[in-house]
Amino acid sequence: QAKVAGKNCHRFYSRVMDQAVERRVRMEQDLRGAWERGELSLAYQPVYRLEDGRLAGAEALLRWRHPEHGPVSPSLFIDVAEQSGLIEVIGPQVLRAACMDARGWQRDFPAARGLFVSVNVSARQLRASDLANQVEAVLRETGLAPQQLHIELTETAVIGDEARVSSLLARLRSAGVKVWLDDFGTGFSGLSHLRRVPVDGVKIDRSFIADVLRDPDDLALTTAIIAMAHSLGIHVVAEGVEKEGQYAILRERGCDMAQGFWLGHPVSNQEFTRLLV
Ligand code: C2E
Ligand code: MG
Ligand code: MG
Ligand code: MG
Repeated sequence: QAKVAGKNCHRFYSRVMDQAVERRVRMEQDLRGAWERGELSLAYQPVYRLEDGRLAGAEALLRWRHPEHGPVSPSLFIDVAEQSGLIEVIGPQVLRAACMDARGWQRDFPAARGLFVSVNVSARQLRASDLANQVEAVLRETGLAPQQLHIELTETAVIGDEARVSSLLARLRSAGVKVWLDDFGTGFSGLSHLRRVPVDGVKIDRSFIADVLRDPDDLALTTAIIAMAHSLGIHVVAEGVEKEGQYAILRERGCDMAQGFWLGHPVSNQEFTRLLV
């Protein structure tokens, strides 16, 4: 009896697994050419300076509206794009579009002159393509100042290849581009990366910010990350600020910048420019 159940169980799981694999394969096929068909777009989430409450820049976040299924979760389709290698096609399109939009802000709105645009770059992009050449070409083409382009890398993107990654980052940074370590605190060896990988700042993962008002440990860790970053001479952005109290305590603890739903959701480029008038 148990044997039969075990067998059925096995069959059930492999069928579920087949479905999951099938779904990913189908998603990959649908994602191919999605940019050209106008299904992909960028949303911009405002990032504010805590010292004076002023707008500092925006993070570009990729959105996919599937023609039949509607909006697809970014963490899902970006994972598929990474695994399949499609990110090597989509990544440069994102970079170029974000720089063009940011150039548009500077051109059309005097208040936007110093704003940065921050672009997420995945592990695969970092390994496969010549990111430095790509960035330099896009900056030339769009006329965006290098200081106004920020690149966000996750800790995992940096693991295992520190030597190559740090020379790439050094080249980007000497051109004036700013580099951030994203989702900081979620990896195991965040601190050791900071020793070997040159960055301009860290973005504290929103899982720390979520409970910063209730959990003394999360507040202690957040405060420690800010102090440590500042003693290394780098900056700190807090992600996922959803409440006024979180904003207040981050400000009190000397965090440099913040983003989150309480401050502003990711919105279309057109909507974002309404913040600039
Ligand atoms: P991320 O870079 O850490 O981006 C921040 C995520 O937090 C975004 O999710 C944003 O919508 C969400 N968020 C912002 N404020 C809040 C808040 O107050 N509360 C909560 N609960 N969430 C908030 P999103 O847009 O779903 O993106 C997920 C991830 O997908 C990003 O995480 C990033 O790793 C990746 N991603 C997005 N766009 C791109 C892209 O163009 N290229 C690459 N390689 N990855 C991207
Ligand atoms: Mg990011
Ligand atoms: Mg993040
Ligand atoms: Mg994240």
